Amino acid sequence: MDLSRTLTGLGAALLTAALLTNPAAAAPDAVSNDRVPSTRDFGNGPDRNETAAVAPEAAAARLLTAPEAADSRWTPRPRGYPRQTVLPVYPENPEDRSIKLGLIPYHGIAPKLNALQKASDRVSAEVIGKSAGGRDLYLVTVTAPESAAEAARQERWRELIEENPRAAKRDRSLARGYKTPIWINANIHGNEWEGTDGSLRVIERLATATDAATRDFLKRSRLYVTVTNNPDGRVAGTRANGAGFDVNRDHATSSQPESRAVRDVVIATQPFVMLDEHGYTGTTLIEPATPPHGQNYEYDLYIKHALPNAEGMEAAIQRLGYPETTRADIPFRDYAPGDWDDWPPIFTPMYAMYHGAIGHTVEIPLRVNNADYNTLPVEELRRRAALNTDVAAATIEATLTYSDTNRATLLADQIEQFRRGWAGEPSPTIPDGFVPGFGPEDRYRTEFPRAYVIPAGTPAAARLVNHLVDHDVRVTRARHDFTLNGKRYPDGTYLVDMHQPKRGLANVMLEAGRDISDLVPQMYDISGWSHRLLWGAPVDISRNAAPRVATSRVTKAAPTGAIDAPRGRDLILSLRDGNDVRAVNELLTLGIKLRRTGAATVVVPAEARPEAAAVAQRFGVRFTAAPRGTRGEVFDQPVIAGAVSADELFALTEMGFPVRTVSTATLNAGTVDLSDVDTLIVSSGLSYTALNATARAAVDAYLARGGGVVTRGATGAAFNAAAGVLPATAVAGRGDANGVVNVTNHGPVVGAGSLPHSFVYSPIWFTGSGFTVEQRYGADPLVAGHWLPNDAGTNGPAQAAGQAAVISGTTAGDGRAVLFGTEPLFRAHPKGLYAQFARALFHTAG
Ligand SMILES: [Zn+2]
Repeated sequence: MDLSRTLTGLGAALLTAALLTNPAAAAPDAVSNDRVPSTRDFGNGPDRNETAAVAPEAAAARLLTAPEAADSRWTPRPRGYPRQTVLPVYPENPEDRSIKLGLIPYHGIAPKLNALQKASDRVSAEVIGKSAGGRDLYLVTVTAPESAAEAARQERWRELIEENPRAAKRDRSLARGYKTPIWINANIHGNEWEGTDGSLRVIERLATATDAATRDFLKRSRLYVTVTNNPDGRVAGTRANGAGFDVNRDHATSSQPESRAVRDVVIATQPFVMLDEHGYTGTTLIEPATPPHGQNYEYDLYIKHALPNAEGMEAAIQRLGYPETTRADIPFRDYAPGDWDDWPPIFTPMYAMYHGAIGHTVEIPLRVNNADYNTLPVEELRRRAALNTDVAAATIEATLTYSDTNRATLLADQIEQFRRGWAGEPSPTIPDGFVPGFGPEDRYRTEFPRAYVIPAGTPAAARLVNHLVDHDVRVTRARHDFTLNGKRYPDGTYLVDMHQPKRGLANVMLEAGRDISDLVPQMYDISGWSHRLLWGAPVDISRNAAPRVATSRVTKAAPTGAIDAPRGRDLILSLRDGNDVRAVNELLTLGIKLRRTGAATVVVPAEARPEAAAVAQRFGVRFTAAPRGTRGEVFDQPVIAGAVSADELFALTEMGFPVRTVSTATLNAGTVDLSDVDTLIVSSGLSYTALNATARAAVDAYLARGGGVVTRGATGAAFNAAAGVLPATAVAGRGDANGVVNVTNHGPVVGAGSLPHSFVYSPIWFTGSGFTVEQRYGADPLVAGHWLPNDAGTNGPAQAAGQAAVISGTTAGDGRAVLFGTEPLFRAHPKGLYAQFARALFHTAG
């Protein structure tokens, strides 16, 4: 489903309003707009509320639940080129959706790459990871052969550029001999196929060409290609990967193996230029993007290359001579602010920019997916796919030409980006006309703080530190106690000294962000995020003072698990973090008799100390001594039925909750049994009003016997209203509103010890009486993001101020319910909010 970018403002509000009363109402398939022919595929909001996740296939489930899965990281082996791995070949799958389009199916890629490796000493292919569905992720490197020593020298030069840019700038042999790194990422959206085929065509040409120009080019360059970044989606014809995630929204979070592969490739290869090949926008679309531009970029170094390279790609597709390729849309040049922005670091090219790359999203033109896939004649689909393949190949070839022609300035500018970081220099103010069309609306910059300080000892701190380190942000550990800005910190405290090469990446994760509501009329995707405010670890900011303490570089956070209690004493674990929840679920799975003294406090009997020690070590959680005589209520692992979105299912699985997935369809089909369910989650794909009489009776009976209910978002609020769960009226903020919000905590379940910030997308608040307010929006709710009132001046942050964001209460059947107007599990990002949802589950399960 594609929603036009015009689906904002009143339209979105009406849609949300419609969802509240009738969640079965489908969003319009497309909203036409003459100027912007199509859109970045919209991956949020309504989508998240209408499709209930189903438990993933076994391979994905295994990866989902393995805490170690996220720890694996691909780094290149210290060897020369070619490397010529024989890739495993998989059985033919006649169901692969690529086949109908005349494109290469997933099972065809390994044989093709094996043949190319056999035929050419310029091609190396390797498997750098597995998709969520367990398929191979390939990296192809095309370059002239290198001895191991030559490859090692290339790696030393790459490192010098990053670690000591001033020395790299002076190094004449580096300037002469460093091979221009170029990276093409293809097919990150599984049903945008042809980037794969276009890049394979370019690989094949480079592998087999006998002309001197190609030979010389390969002596000066390395082309890296992640041939399909989403093989699960390629096979299934879906945008998402096998876990239901939009990988091109996951780069700041890295919850998925496909985005971790991107992270690892961009860090290891440090490309000067990269393309992320997508489709389908009617007219070919080539970034650079419109404002708002990410405020942490060295944007001058970017736009001076991005615009001419985009125009070079446009010229290349014009030369193809198709009536469909007479021009490209270059958003920076052709679109209004806010129509196609590069603000959040969740898209591949934007993420890559922080690693020194000139990043471009390329949208090939002719639609072959979704409804068109099923309705157009095969010949027309194949004509389109062939044309799209030509366009993808042309953009890649043009980028190779630009990168080769401008290799000296691209090198100098990557060095300059890292030099500014190390020097702590302010990003320059870019003058109007710096490139054609650059004006005041394009001017975004920030003041980098001198350092961030992360107190150690909690699983949240360890998670944040590991995340930063995995993304190549430099983190150090103080070797002694120290004082900074009048505050004393113990040895072992983590420091992010912002004088570092990738300071933009460090800051885009650790800053609060910015309220950009007044700057552009609408935004396309999330406008707020913050690992500092949403991931649960307290982080201090030192604006000006540099920490003065001896430090060591951190490659992995120190373990945090501990039992701070004498032997023989019962233990307490507070449910503050997703890891605390995971530990509790693990203990319950082991059959330990746990007790609760409140929504957030779990008591572990003294005799389970060995098991507690094991989960403390595994999940980094800390147990304390229970006060003598602490009793509490014994509880089991709740039986949970969930009509939830895929990202929520993932987050719940991360916390160790087994979830029986349900939906309107499965309830209507009678294939779900609610008789043993303790609590029912409704957030996506369950409409009470769309249930048939039998299914409705089953839900009614469930509620009448006191079954628990947890809801989230518009679908949950509609369920609450239709099924009469709690006497609350839901009010929807503008449908596209999103970001980090201030909240105040009140109630005992969700409010207990929660962060003062939360995350919203299509925020909701609750009015009425007869319930407990757990959490309210702050007096000035929006910290960072985009949230405007509707045209009538309603449904904005001013109206949400002080309103109930999360409520709890008792149902008519004497069950317990919790209703979320916030997004504590959104895309598995706000890790510091996870425990709120878990506490709601334990509480409502009784
Ligand atoms: Zn796409």
